[in-house]
Amino acid sequence: MAQKNHRLCISCRQTAHRDTLWRIVRTFPSRHVSLNDGMGRSAYLCRNPQCLENAQKKNRLGKALRSPVPPEIYKELHNLLIQRSSEQTDLSSISSK
Ligand SMILES: [Zn+2]
Repeated sequence: MAQKNHRLCISCRQTAHRDTLWRIVRTFPSRHVSLNDGMGRSAYLCRNPQCLENAQKKNRLGKALRSPVPPEIYKELHNLLIQRSSEQTDLSSISSK
């Protein structure tokens, strides 16, 4: 049974449905790192503080994307976490393709 639409979290190495994960993309060819949209090498991360912290501390995100991840990306993810804890609506699922 293939795990359709499931992706591996680059931090804890567990799979989850892609809608429940953050997608971080190193867009091609600009090498700009962005969240959720863009074509290019992408990495997935659980939307929880532990995985975010590990991804940042151990540079798992940078390794997965083979590119340095700007601090703004981590800041944005932290902000999203804070938003999510106050309201349970899923902002990023709006742009699912
Ligand atoms: Zn995880």
